[in-house]
Amino acid sequence: MNYQIAVLKGDGIGPEITESAVRVLEKTAVLTGHSFRFSEYLIGGIAVDETGVPLPEETVSGCLASDSVLLGAVGGPKWDSLPPELRPEKALLGIRSALGLYTNLRPARLFPALRGASPLKESVIGAGFDLLIVRELTGGIYFGERGYRTGKYGEEAFDTEAYSVTEIERIGRTAFSAAQKRRGKVTSIDKANVLETSRLWRRTMHRLAEEYPDVTFGDMLVDNAAMQLVRDPAQFDVIVTSNLFGNILSDEASQITGSIGMLASASLGDGTRGMYEPIHGSAPDIAGQNKANPLAAILSGAMMLRYSFGLTAEAEMIERAADRVLEAGFRTADIMGEHKGTPLSCSEMTEKILKAITAQPI
Ligand code: NAD
Repeated sequence: MNYQIAVLKGDGIGPEITESAVRVLEKTAVLTGHSFRFSEYLIGGIAVDETGVPLPEETVSGCLASDSVLLGAVGGPKWDSLPPELRPEKALLGIRSALGLYTNLRPARLFPALRGASPLKESVIGAGFDLLIVRELTGGIYFGERGYRTGKYGEEAFDTEAYSVTEIERIGRTAFSAAQKRRGKVTSIDKANVLETSRLWRRTMHRLAEEYPDVTFGDMLVDNAAMQLVRDPAQFDVIVTSNLFGNILSDEASQITGSIGMLASASLGDGTRGMYEPIHGSAPDIAGQNKANPLAAILSGAMMLRYSFGLTAEAEMIERAADRVLEAGFRTADIMGEHKGTPLSCSEMTEKILKAITAQPI
């Protein structure tokens, strides 16, 4: 099969890790007889520098003309003082909206070889954990009315959260369907004891749950969920939640796996086109030093093969290669934990994965 992939490298470590992911996808294509064509477009701070805006029109049209999109990361201190509409992060919201991507899938799995890198005690980790956070991506407080006004104490700022039944139902259906292909359990996270949007969220999820009798359903308040994730992460299979809560909980979930540098994500809409990106940011503290862990970007490429192209066996080739390299004891600096040895650079880790895919000695 032939696929056209838009590559948005972005800022900071974005170019290094995206390059790694592209090399691994190219190798996978060669080994399996597919053809992936890559076209690069600007996004984020680099786009501001070169075109004056964080999301140039050419980037949007290039992504719309592609079968799928691979994104690195955007942002950095250089652009932090720009007005909100020019901030690199604004491009992320813009491209998700332009592509109609309303679901964010964020798996958080403990790689057995990385137990030592998790900050959780062995007794808490137990047999390990493997959860999937389904985060609503194009609604809620990130997109509500906001501004400044004069209040009782002078100048004040406000942000508003709104969710429609339709938005809640479509993300709910994604979560229930995902659970049917996993361990059959959905936990819906909200703040229904305080927020009206959460009360609508909860009512809608309960109604939806009746359509999926094969899925065990429960809900949980977000403050409790933040605690339960570090107390007993294995209790979760699929978590479904709003844009804001999903953003926060998925970073917490990433940390307990050992490193933010390991976790991939997929943003999906109604069609097969998706946008695939590591959940970490542009890591300005290590940018340009060849120290970044490329695995989250590489595993994002594997998610693209699975969710957008239906190439499950090819996705598994990449995932198995990552497992094999970790089992063999290779680590980048961020996942060393108590592991002994010298950490690999970004390019060295990429070479190991390329060898592991071809079943060569690593
Ligand atoms: P970050 O994820 O970039 O970095 C947090 C910490 O994790 C840093 O110490 C970093 O070195 C480390 N880290 C992250 N990815 C790593 C990797 N692959 N390998 C090794 N270590 C890694 O978060 P931050 O520092 O809060 O944000 C930095 C910039 O990234 C900000 O401008 C922020 O707005 C932006 N950001 C972008 C995205 C995105 O593009 N999707 C997401 C989050 C943050």
